[in-house]
Amino acid sequence: MLKAFFESFLNLFKRPATVGFPFEEAEFGVECRGGIRFNAEHCTRCLMCEKICPTKAIQFIRSESGEDAYHYNPYLCIFCGECTRSCPKENEALFQSNAPVFSTSDQSVSKSWDAVEIEAERSKKIYKKAKIKSANAQPKE
Ligand code: SF4
Ligand code: SF4
Repeated sequence: MLKAFFESFLNLFKRPATVGFPFEEAEFGVECRGGIRFNAEHCTRCLMCEKICPTKAIQFIRSESGEDAYHYNPYLCIFCGECTRSCPKENEALFQSNAPVFSTSDQSVSKSWDAVEIEAERSKKIYKKAKIKSANAQPKE
């Protein structure tokens, strides 16, 4: 009892074992499931990652010519890794880093996210309509 009391008293003068992340730097082990990294060069634009994400943290905005712009919201991401597992180019186009990738000072991604989601949906509808229109415009044989 006395020993426990003495140890507790000494602990009052020790540094805490925890760190005040995200306000202080923290070390992450290699097994830590962190933020998602994207490499456009290897992406096939299959959109599997977007479809499978449970929190809609990945969105692609598609241009009429079919080019896709990748958007990722680390504040929505729950770091489940489902997107990377679904990716046919796992570890090339998409991989999970071992650290969170958000900043407490810049949350602009989150603030504009509603607009990104709306635009992602709208752009795909426009692209689909343009495809149907161009298919219908082809001369029938
Ligand atoms: S790790 Fe999970 S929540 Fe985060 S982007 Fe991938 S599928 Fe979505
Ligand atoms: S699943 Fe992979 S290849 Fe498909 S769109 Fe996402 S990052 Fe690109």
